[in-house]
Amino acid sequence: MFDLQDLYQEVIVDHNRSPRNFGKLETANHVLEGFNPLCGDRLTLYVETDGDIIRNISFDGSGCAISVASASLMTEALKGKHMDEARRLFNEFHDLLTKDNDIDLDTYGKLAALAGVRAYPSRVKCATLCWHTLNAVLQGEQTPVSTE
Ligand code: ZN
Repeated sequence: MFDLQDLYQEVIVDHNRSPRNFGKLETANHVLEGFNPLCGDRLTLYVETDGDIIRNISFDGSGCAISVASASLMTEALKGKHMDEARRLFNEFHDLLTKDNDIDLDTYGKLAALAGVRAYPSRVKCATLCWHTLNAVLQGEQTPVSTE
């Protein structure tokens, strides 16, 4: 039997080493910056929407392994999704990292790799920075996001 914790660790290391959807998206119609002062994570999120569909999404910037892996996993999870679905995922992911109740990790797919972060409250903002930035984009906000 494999060790689930090791598997999750591998997902984070892999997505940090070779982040998916990394780089500026020229076709983006929404661009927003996010900053996590606690850790120094910075990212810019590029989102191309077509009506209510997230047609394409990418990010760049620099930050710790958790912030980069989380943004990479998020962009993978959201490409092609309806905005309502993205909002639902944001809420679920936020619960995953901040609530103490039992969760069914199977429903989160690869995003579950970040569930271990909930044991380290100071790192939760690293993992949620990209999601807060996304949420601001979905709400039409244009001022840069700070987790503070
Ligand atoms: Zn960080």
